[in-house]
Amino acid sequence: MQNLFRLLPPVDAALGSLAQDPALAALPRAMLRDAVTDYLDGLRDDIRAGRLTEPAQLDHGLVFAQCARHVAAATRPHFRRVINATGVVVHTNLGRSLLAPEAAAAAAEACLRYSNLEFDLTTGERGSRYSHVVDILRTLTGAEDALVVNNNAAAVMIVLETLAKGREVIVSRGQLVEIGGSFRIPEVMAKSGAVLREVGATNRTHPRDYENAVSPETAALLKVHTSNYRIVGFTKEVSLPELVALGARLELPVIEDLGSGNLTDFAACGLPGEPTVQQAVADGADVVTFSGDKVLGGPQAGIIVGKAKYIAAIRKNPLNRAMRIDKMTLAALESTLRLYRDPERARAVIPTLAMITASPERLAKKARKLAGLLRKALAGRYTVSAIPGASRVGGGAYPEHDLPTTLVALRPLADAPSPDALRQRLLAAEPPLVARTQDDALLLDPRTLADDELKLVALVLAQASRPETA
Ligand SMILES: *Cc1c(COP(=O)(O)O)cnc(C)c1O
Repeated sequence: MQNLFRLLPPVDAALGSLAQDPALAALPRAMLRDAVTDYLDGLRDDIRAGRLTEPAQLDHGLVFAQCARHVAAATRPHFRRVINATGVVVHTNLGRSLLAPEAAAAAAEACLRYSNLEFDLTTGERGSRYSHVVDILRTLTGAEDALVVNNNAAAVMIVLETLAKGREVIVSRGQLVEIGGSFRIPEVMAKSGAVLREVGATNRTHPRDYENAVSPETAALLKVHTSNYRIVGFTKEVSLPELVALGARLELPVIEDLGSGNLTDFAACGLPGEPTVQQAVADGADVVTFSGDKVLGGPQAGIIVGKAKYIAAIRKNPLNRAMRIDKMTLAALESTLRLYRDPERARAVIPTLAMITASPERLAKKARKLAGLLRKALAGRYTVSAIPGASRVGGGAYPEHDLPTTLVALRPLADAPSPDALRQRLLAAEPPLVARTQDDALLLDPRTLADDELKLVALVLAQASRPETA
């Protein structure tokens, strides 16, 4: 054992060996030294525990190569690009929407240059950060006024805090939803200080249920989009126009949390009809809230549109400062919204819209191309086939609705890693690739793969499936 310890290279020799890799050589010396020391400590542990017993295992060429891999993994940024082969377009864990190139460029410029963020270029005096998106939001949605905050959870919170703190808000029982664990309508409402007044049954709520619950304590009527689930069968929801009529009669504001917030009518693309923001505004909702990074296809933001008097009150709420949207987001949001002025162009260049509306023929063609590349890259280790399958919109939009796609299925031959083992190895690849497995196959969905990613997918899979990377 002592002999094995003596074979370990000194830290400086291992550090010197890293100089051959320019990317590593450019990193701060202290960072490299820590990573090298950590690697050599690991080898010492292996010797002590009897996992490393042969002098040949400590051949310096071998040790330096492993050390370089360890250092590269230990020093790379934690926040990284991944390849999304899941077919879930608005994948919350993978960053939801990708930005259109011009929206990303606008965000980059906002970072690299000074801007008129809160500066009025006509007067030379202080301006409003919201001014950049108010007009375009009014034009696109038909609302009188608009405000943007950090995300839709914040939007719901500030709307309730402003309009209903210490008073009651009436909501249908069927709409007390939980969205992704940490956002639950009853809890958000409790935090806002508004008092939840639930009405109706889980599956059916009638206008009279709202009416019977109204009291001098009532501040508003709230409708929540049941984003990620569906109640089917014997059901009845009170429609927004019905709720608006009731609100008008009782002099109560009607708030709608639309969740995903389509500006696009996807019905033409074969998706079930979902209310658009424009429709909610036209139906008379006083305040409508929705996300910027779900099917809208922009940056993370919470968008609030509605009647001028309510928006003005919400804007003045001191909470607004705590939920303030930042300049990168504003730049990307304005740029994304501007694209909606030409709906056809929006569908072509906003990645979320392009992926949701991609035609089955285009996806089949892309799948065949990917399959061809993979057959070459994985020859003899996996069978590669293009099979019909389904993608999802994600982000709580269109739950349970399948988008037809063509998947590329990989099935192991001989002793190649199993689909689950391969999926695990792909997570450790550079860049990591996220895919799903089903039965005996690893499945890749071309819907969420960019055209210029196909070769990279083949490269990453070739590396991850090699026996020696075990
Ligand atoms: C997604 C969603 C939210 C939360 O929006 P974030 O932008 O993720 O904060 C709130 N309400 C509904 C109905 C949603 O679907």
